Amino acid sequence: MILRCHRSAPADAVQALIERCERAGIRTARSPESARPIIALLDKVPAALEKELQAHPAVEEIVKPKGDLRLAHRAYREEHSRARIGRGDQAVTLGGGAPPVVIAGPCSVEGRDFMDEVAAHVVAGGAQILRGGAYKPRTSPYAFQGYGVEGLAQLKSAGEKHGLPVCAEIMDGSHLPGFVDHDVDLLQVGARNMQNFTLLKAIAAAGQPVLLKRGLAATVEEWLYAAEYLCAHGCPQVILCERGIRTFETATRNTLDLTILPVLRELTHFPVIVDPAHAVGIARFIAPLARAAIACGADGLTVEVHPRPEEARSDGPQALLPAELAALVAEARVLGSILR
Ligand code: PEP
Ligand code: MN
Repeated sequence: MILRCHRSAPADAVQALIERCERAGIRTARSPESARPIIALLDKVPAALEKELQAHPAVEEIVKPKGDLRLAHRAYREEHSRARIGRGDQAVTLGGGAPPVVIAGPCSVEGRDFMDEVAAHVVAGGAQILRGGAYKPRTSPYAFQGYGVEGLAQLKSAGEKHGLPVCAEIMDGSHLPGFVDHDVDLLQVGARNMQNFTLLKAIAAAGQPVLLKRGLAATVEEWLYAAEYLCAHGCPQVILCERGIRTFETATRNTLDLTILPVLRELTHFPVIVDPAHAVGIARFIAPLARAAIACGADGLTVEVHPRPEEARSDGPQALLPAELAALVAEARVLGSILR
């Protein structure tokens, strides 16, 4: 249950409301929303208490989510939430009506000079966040697995040199100290780990925003519960990323499910970005899907870029060339400004 108080409800009345619920053994969470006091009740509320809360002068509206969604539920915020990624003047705002943000970089971090070269292309192309995988979830155990913590160091040093916050996938909670030491600004949870609840709990408290990719065969409900796990364990901000789901179709790597973009807008307050690259898996089909994603209201995109895709250690066939990245960013900007 979510208690949405009157915007003008006095602070002591809101506090009394929280204490009343806690006394009844119900755990509460206070929304960081500043426009209105909003309280999520995490446990089941008995009918008699619900009646009392309905009559409480501080309460304007009670929202009863169908399942257990609380902090991920749309009603937990007044407006859609926005993420701040990075620090100081480098920080990027994503979501909440901000112009579309593009995250770009190689699938895998492939070396120090290479990251420097790609980061320069990312800046020149107008993308705002540098990505790069240091721990790679590869289908084959013989395929390149990433450079691990050294890859994080290379990613961060390229980000710092070129003034870009950085994003990398974390696959195991035991790797978190490396991500913290190298100040990875945005922690990515990959599709294969979306429901790895141990991982979600381990990284939530790190204080960094998390990019939560949709599982290969996850429903929207399962995805939002994964986001709820992150928030319930202290994650300050989640960004959802649609990256294609597994269907009967084999002409493309996965099927990009843009259907859920307007649906998510109603169900949750989180920003949503789209990864057309891992969805389609073929570079020349990325641009039209990116346009469609922005047209459907995506808050941003994440794509892979490589100056020599044929040499890429992973996902070469879906890597954009630097000039293609620049064209994609320019289009996303124009479309975003028309549609917002
Ligand atoms: C990636 O972003 O490099 C990646 C492995 O993505 P996904 O988890 O969506 O497959
Ligand atoms: Mn990839």
